[in-house]
Amino acid sequence: MFGTGYSGADAHPTSMRPSDVDTSQRPFVCIWEVTQACALACEHCRADAQPARHPDELTTAEGKALLDDARAFGDGQLVVLSGGDPLARDDTVDLVEYGVENGLRMTMTPSGTESLTRERVADLADAGLRRMALSLDGASAATHDAFRGEAGSFDSTVEAARAARDAGLPLQINTTVCAQTVGDLPAIRDLVADLGAVLWSVFFLVPVGRGRVLDPIDPERAEGVMEWLVDVADDAPFGVKTTEAPHYRRVALQQKRAEGGTASPARDGIGRRTGITAGDGFAFVSHVGDVYPSGFLPESAGNVREESLVDLYRDSALFESLRDPDALTGKCGACEFRNVCGGSRSRAYATAGDPLASDPLCAYEPEGYDGPMPDQSPAEVEL
Ligand code: SF4
Repeated sequence: MFGTGYSGADAHPTSMRPSDVDTSQRPFVCIWEVTQACALACEHCRADAQPARHPDELTTAEGKALLDDARAFGDGQLVVLSGGDPLARDDTVDLVEYGVENGLRMTMTPSGTESLTRERVADLADAGLRRMALSLDGASAATHDAFRGEAGSFDSTVEAARAARDAGLPLQINTTVCAQTVGDLPAIRDLVADLGAVLWSVFFLVPVGRGRVLDPIDPERAEGVMEWLVDVADDAPFGVKTTEAPHYRRVALQQKRAEGGTASPARDGIGRRTGITAGDGFAFVSHVGDVYPSGFLPESAGNVREESLVDLYRDSALFESLRDPDALTGKCGACEFRNVCGGSRSRAYATAGDPLASDPLCAYEPEGYDGPMPDQSPAEVEL
């Protein structure tokens, strides 16, 4: 559900970049879906959010053990508490404090509801939260609330964003790109700037869970949006990253080359990726402890109740395969940009049932490639 392409100086709460991390050893981002409970019931929810908490959710003690495990990745590991609505749990502030005390960089993605009050935002800032990420899928109450299916969500989100700024808590805005929202992107960009956000995370729809009810944009439109985002990133007072669209890095490289730059379609100078993808710089732990390469790739490597998150991330066959660009097949496997891009492994799984297949959202045709072009229709995979 989170990052695959970065630009801007402050894309990370530590100003760390993906290339600063040896992603074979630790994720750049570790997301823990603390609950699937949420007062909202967005039609497209990845988490298939429910009104009530699941009885088998990780307990507070199990959650703290998970945070200890995340700490074993190394100093300053970034942990995102997501949901559902993480504030649907009554121990969320305690978990933030515990993580901070143990050297983790704690961030959170609460839902934009009336219960996200100024007081709660201030409590999170006092607990040491590094960043709060809020979703805005429209630039007005009319468009955002229609997308979220909940009147009042836009106003609650904007109020919480202002509360974060007043509390000195850095703000990230997450936006879903699909046929229903793409026309509003320029106005959302302006709102992101007005709200003083440090990062705009632009998520290109993956058709999993309830997300299948939305319409993805086609590859040509996606290419245009990414070219536009490169220009936004050059001028905006905030950083820009894409989620589940690593071809943003390919597009940025091509643009820089066209402007006379010397950018190369390889890993950086010490052989590491310049961004992250599912399982390579990214790990997701579900509300019941299952470990996935991303929140949009529902193939589990194991469960933290039985195995260490560190071991699953470093040594499971699933994660290891996702970190090998030469294991990719089809168009992505033939592509000279596979080391900096690699395509969305989540979208490959959602559409082909194979996490190593091609990403059908990409318009690029590698030179000399004459194999089949991937299909963007959702696969009949069990989710
Ligand atoms: S073909 Fe695959 S690896 Fe190449 S740019 Fe497109 S998504 Fe990336």
